[in-house]
Amino acid sequence: MSANPKLMQGISPEFNLLIDGRLTPGAATLDVINPATGKVLTTCARADKAQLDAAVAAAKRAFVTWSATPIETRRRALLEVAAALEARIPEFARLLTEEQGKPLVHAAGEIGGAVAMIRAFAAMDLPVTVLRDDARERIVQQHAPLGVVAAITPWNFPMVLLMIKVAPALLAGNTVVAKPAPTTPLTTLLFAELCADILPPGVLNVIVDQNDLGGFLTTHPDIAKVAFTGSTATGRKVMASVASTIKRLTLELGGNDAAIVLDDVDVKEVATKIFQGAMVNSGQVCLAIKRVYVPDSLYEAMCTELAALAKAAVVGDGLDAATQMGPLQNKAQFEKVKEFLEDARTNGRIIAGGNALDRDGYFIAPTIVRDIADNTRLVREEQFGPVLPVLKYTDLDDAIARANSSEYGLGGTVWGADSKRAFEVAQRIAAGTVWVNKHLDLPPDIPFGGAKQSGFGTEMGQEGLLEFTQMRIINIAKQAG
Ligand code: NAD
Repeated sequence: MSANPKLMQGISPEFNLLIDGRLTPGAATLDVINPATGKVLTTCARADKAQLDAAVAAAKRAFVTWSATPIETRRRALLEVAAALEARIPEFARLLTEEQGKPLVHAAGEIGGAVAMIRAFAAMDLPVTVLRDDARERIVQQHAPLGVVAAITPWNFPMVLLMIKVAPALLAGNTVVAKPAPTTPLTTLLFAELCADILPPGVLNVIVDQNDLGGFLTTHPDIAKVAFTGSTATGRKVMASVASTIKRLTLELGGNDAAIVLDDVDVKEVATKIFQGAMVNSGQVCLAIKRVYVPDSLYEAMCTELAALAKAAVVGDGLDAATQMGPLQNKAQFEKVKEFLEDARTNGRIIAGGNALDRDGYFIAPTIVRDIADNTRLVREEQFGPVLPVLKYTDLDDAIARANSSEYGLGGTVWGADSKRAFEVAQRIAAGTVWVNKHLDLPPDIPFGGAKQSGFGTEMGQEGLLEFTQMRIINIAKQAG
């Protein structure tokens, strides 16, 4: 797997903003930390408010032509972007591991997923529906683009979450100003560089901030829609700030997904799947399994299996081929997860892990916690890290009620040998996606969205495309007068 040539040569790479088709140095710079070392990886461009305004203005100008461009041309442009990205997967993957921390094989999987996401949207169409056509009138329903879309992304899956927004927005005829999280801007900037050679000026703009420009984007009068993925706390602020101009809004927010294990499972097999579902990306997944409910009869065996898996997991630098789990992505998250470890130590029994690793970087040993009460921080809040509470239940109805007793409702899983019974249980989970005997299967053509304070609106699938459009009814009289 080849490295980013710029980083390999020891040359400070120019990770520039993309504004109006031009790769533009920032008004300031931003240090990007490698979470596996805690040291500066490189610096990149950082925008100021004037550059944000320039990006929005460029997107507004470009919208006039792009929205009038035939969808077939937009589709071809997206497919060209997908092919260009696919050709550079090793380079993007290495940079993603360096800035985000995930193992290289998972980083390559994310870039491959980003390519697949673009292609999935490029294969879709905007339906035109004739609602009525009779002697008196013809009524047609169309889906028109909205205008300039702000795509605001977090640091756990910087590339795939960007494509979930950029690809449908552009196919539908919108233009975009994208803003990555300040701790993972590099892959987004490299993607901007790639797109600069393919897309017309202003169609995609990328700016980077230091958590200081998001509010300007969400209140900007020339932004028509905000597509936001991030924490529920920030989502709340975004929702308040778009109100001033009644922008369209999609919020994909936090989760505290429960796994319910039924009493007929093969514990060893299910423990392995639950462990992966909880620890992938070091637990920094909105849809990770964040608490597990296990029947009395299987509790001891499940705790033992999960603890053994945690002790055996290889934690290290994502660039090391042996690594199964990388570091936490940033220092703030690392400190937050350490608070959850303290809560676990005080209120539960840690049977594997429980500590930060004694080395540079933001590493936490995969941790399994048993005998912890429902009202603790680790069970009630989103830990977003490799610390999994295992909870005992006696009565299945009670377990379902406890799983649903959360302000979140993003996803959930049910594990049972009797799939009919497991399906019955799944229908009682208050969440946007519930998997039965599998986890994190997210095909790009299947819609995805959260319940309760996990957000609203839909991403992916045909519904995810239509979220970037405005319905337009054209009602035509057939006879004058
Ligand atoms: P965050 O909310 O801190 O940041 C997300 C983005 O919002 C970043 O780009 C950030 O710079 C920007 N931002 C910060 N303040 C803003 C403001 N006032 N206005 C507009 N934008 C602002 O989230 P994070 O810590 O980067 O990501 C982790 C969170 O994201 C977790 O809660 C996780 O569950 C959630 N997440 C959800 C999904 C989903 O699809 N539901 C997917 C991935 C992550």
